Amino acid sequence: MDPQSYSTELHTDIKFLKGVGPRRANILKQNDIFTIEDLLRYYPRKYLDRTNTKKISELIVGDKVVIIATVKSFSLKRTKKGKYFQLYVNDNTGSLNCLWFHGVSWILEKFNVGDNIALFGKVEFYKGFRIIHPEFDILDSDDDPLNTGRIIPIYATNAKLKNVGLDSRGIRKLIINALNAISNKIDDHFYNDILKEESLLNLSNAISNIHQPEDQFVLKNAIYRLKFDEHFFIQILMALNTNRIKTSKGKIYRSLGDHAKNMYKNLNFKLTNAQIKVLKEIRLDICSGKPMNRLIQGDVGCGKTIVAALIASIIVGEKAQVAIMAPTEILAEQHYNSFNEKFKNTKINCSLLISNLKKKEKDLLYENLKKSKIDIIIGTHALIQDKVIFKNLGLIIIDEQHRFGVDQRKKLIDKGSNPHLLAMTATPIPRTLAFTLHGDMEISWIDEMPQNRKTILTKVVIPNQINTVYDLMKKEMDRGHYCYIVYPIIDESEKLDLKDAKNAFELLSRNEFKEYSLGFMHGKLDKIEKNSLMEKFTSGKIQCLISTTVIEVGIDNSKATVMVIENAERFGLTQLHQLRGRVGRSELQSHCFLIERKTTENSFKRLQIMENISNGFVISDEDLKLRGPGDFFGTKQHGYIKSGLINFNKDSEIIKRARKKAFEIIGEDSKLLLAENSLIRNKFMKNYKEMLEFINIG
Ligand code: ADP
Ligand code: MG
Repeated sequence: MDPQSYSTELHTDIKFLKGVGPRRANILKQNDIFTIEDLLRYYPRKYLDRTNTKKISELIVGDKVVIIATVKSFSLKRTKKGKYFQLYVNDNTGSLNCLWFHGVSWILEKFNVGDNIALFGKVEFYKGFRIIHPEFDILDSDDDPLNTGRIIPIYATNAKLKNVGLDSRGIRKLIINALNAISNKIDDHFYNDILKEESLLNLSNAISNIHQPEDQFVLKNAIYRLKFDEHFFIQILMALNTNRIKTSKGKIYRSLGDHAKNMYKNLNFKLTNAQIKVLKEIRLDICSGKPMNRLIQGDVGCGKTIVAALIASIIVGEKAQVAIMAPTEILAEQHYNSFNEKFKNTKINCSLLISNLKKKEKDLLYENLKKSKIDIIIGTHALIQDKVIFKNLGLIIIDEQHRFGVDQRKKLIDKGSNPHLLAMTATPIPRTLAFTLHGDMEISWIDEMPQNRKTILTKVVIPNQINTVYDLMKKEMDRGHYCYIVYPIIDESEKLDLKDAKNAFELLSRNEFKEYSLGFMHGKLDKIEKNSLMEKFTSGKIQCLISTTVIEVGIDNSKATVMVIENAERFGLTQLHQLRGRVGRSELQSHCFLIERKTTENSFKRLQIMENISNGFVISDEDLKLRGPGDFFGTKQHGYIKSGLINFNKDSEIIKRARKKAFEIIGEDSKLLLAENSLIRNKFMKNYKEMLEFINIG
């Protein structure tokens, strides 16, 4: 058969599949399942290995087992020490107790008497068998617990899907229909020799086994193959972009110039070895004749800004312009202030573009930029507007680059002719992930903190101990130091159960801190108010800043020594680490208090990690383990990763192989024009449409 007829079937509208119909089709589409292929890409969330379950009567203390049982009763117990949740289950051979000490409130809603459930955990014995904090899955009602001997896929579902009968089992049935309709008709985009070389299962085999695994071994191979594919296409993207850069010319900036020499002379600290190393790497790039495409990774407070400022001054020294893009206005303004401070002994003209400038001011700015009267422009994404035209854009610096989409980066690049690009990120990204996300960039690590920094003492605090925190804050403010209290939201109307920043500001100003001066910072303030607050906060007129997360990135007050985070359980680890990074920015001993108002799923583990770990990279690895990679890929930038199958934490070996293969293929066929690569090309074009313009192979 010709490939065309296969693809029509894969691409058939989901509504034509046996068992679907218009109502289900509608709901499936709301869940991003439009075609039969989409459905086949809806991989199981996990598997229940029926070949490996135990009866309760067969349990042995210390075993890690899967048990299938029925819910008999459950209750919330209170003791002197606190609450715990107890679940009592049985099968036809005996009964078992399960206990939860954390996250009691969310778990309460999960069970119903009579539910069939699968439990996984380590067996203990205390007045009978019990498991503490088991993992569990509620099974479908007619998943016969006696039906052993199979690996059952479990699919993610939700209320809407369930409403049209698509619980895990419903989805399973549909997928079996889809497999029956086309399983042997899926064309492989890899030729046999690649399959052999990489020991890959063929595609149709892999897809059918990921849903209906014959056994553990084949399942493992199926997962490997499909993971390989996903990484492979990401790496094709990286290879194409790397290739684009290699084949374009970059302007050469060789000499250090007076500006940079001046700044260097006037530094009031010594650069760390890591900063010097990175500066050298960058200088090699801008002399190479190719456009630089480099990312600086370094933990909060390691000193990326001065590196950026020095490089910017080199570019300006050779009469070219620099654009610096930051994700928030506060950060852009702060960069503006700190760059101007650093440039004060130079003649560099550094200007700020933010959205709420007056029209006149803006027009003047555009005019000056066009005439090259402005050397460095700092701004938010306002920089990518059409009106912003450079005379000679030599360098782009992007701070917190993971906050921007690839398309935004591309638009800024297009304002020059192959300008150099320097991206920075203070949000640590796990190394395996960095390799994948930024696989087209050279990476520099600033893996050293300026000397004399002390570890920030971090403590999780329960609400009734808050006074000890306030006492310490007063002591610190009495010594001329500064504090932050951060809240997840601005005002009560957004969510009632949260302590809110505005309320707290008023209460604290009147009560605990009436002898101190407090400021209230949030995202809805206008530019002048924000500026004046920041100015007061660094000059001593405000000693404690009550704030929402607008201060998360970049804010730099080196005498701030206390960071209090309210409702800390609401924040992700990376964000907590960023917030904590607002203190500990000098030789002063700093403190971070995480106020835990409510126990939620994982919150205990997360806050523990913060207490014990100060290295941002280790934290982000832990974060990745807890959350999976989804959150690291902003939807905008990386919306093309469709399945939850890949796990960057565990896939580094697969990534390496997929990367090697992808770079090999692009090395020989840089635009994927050879016949043997046509299926790879088609698939790439289809899945990565949004990237084509950037890559320039369309
Ligand atoms: P980040 O890497 O998080 O952007 P910054 O560049 O804002 O960090 O630097 C944090 C603070 O450390 C700033 O106040 C900066 O002036 C200071 N700093 C930077 N480099 C050094 C150094 N080598 N020695 C001492 N202080 C430094
Ligand atoms: Mg910074």
